Amino acid sequence: MSSAVLGIESTAHTAGVGIVSPEGKILADRKATFTPPEGSGIHPREAAQHHVAALPGLVRDVLADAQLAPDELALVAYARGPGLGPCLRTGATAARALAHTHGLPLLGVNHCVAHLEIGLLEGATDPVLLYLSGGNTQVIGYAHGRYRVFGETLDIGIGNMLDKFGREVGLEFPGGPKLEALAAGPELEPLPYSVKGMDMAFSGLLTAALRKFADGMELSRLAYAIQETAFAMACEVAERALAHTGKTELVLGGGVACNARLREMAKTMTRERDVACFAPSKALCVDNGVMIAWLGHVMQAGGYEIQSQDDRVDQRFRTDMAEVTWR
Ligand code: AMP
Ligand code: MG
Repeated sequence: MSSAVLGIESTAHTAGVGIVSPEGKILADRKATFTPPEGSGIHPREAAQHHVAALPGLVRDVLADAQLAPDELALVAYARGPGLGPCLRTGATAARALAHTHGLPLLGVNHCVAHLEIGLLEGATDPVLLYLSGGNTQVIGYAHGRYRVFGETLDIGIGNMLDKFGREVGLEFPGGPKLEALAAGPELEPLPYSVKGMDMAFSGLLTAALRKFADGMELSRLAYAIQETAFAMACEVAERALAHTGKTELVLGGGVACNARLREMAKTMTRERDVACFAPSKALCVDNGVMIAWLGHVMQAGGYEIQSQDDRVDQRFRTDMAEVTWR
């Protein structure tokens, strides 16, 4: 028995499978990402079909990478939500098949909490998570027995905003990295900056940027303005969460956290506050199976008792719904 944990991620466009040792050593990390046809967004059923085709091979490959037989695993974990229903169900089905075939315990975990807990593998102990992905934009931290959402987007996710802008101006999906490559300052074109209390909104910024593009403004200048404005909003909310909670660690997560300018802004803000900033590798910022496996391990090792709902997907599995008994 190796007590390694296998994790399956399938909440959106990425099918990922990872294996971690109880010491937090990453033994395997494989992923396959669904790319929507040119000009369209993600269709949940098409993404799910992609995952159905990808998952069996990914599971085989990670076991080979880690040189483990399935019955040497201590646990199979999967992301039970939040996410797209058809995608979640494919991951849950794969996890269930693997666990039941080999008599292994099965545990569905929260995807957003996994983005936070992977920061603990980087050395954080009790961080605020700035989670910036396609569909999710949240500032999360642990307080009084639960992971609390301190602030979040009131409309679309920050990555979604970048991708939608990119699509409208003729860039291939995903737009985020392409805009990063194009962005050129230093002249900062004003765009709507929308922070309301601890929450953010991005659709006004998107509309204004598209209008300026239609009026003939260069893409490089707009890309720069979008990044500066949207990332400053996210960093402002994260900074206020740090100030209110007194926490001294920030973890970055989600695909948008791969962005060098965002990382730079977060580092500047945390340095000024004497806060440690943990920016996991890009492979661990994007959706991945390793973080699911790691959260499964942390919960199991912390004495979490598996309940019946842990084998049920939940599209709207909010970060603050689960009582945290394992910390
Ligand atoms: P996720 O939903 O966490 O898998 O992340 C996907 C999102 O991350 C998409 O919206 C991408 O456009 C965005 N993304 C990935 N890399 C970058 C980058 N370098 N800069 C900005 N956004 C990015
Ligand atoms: Mg994610």
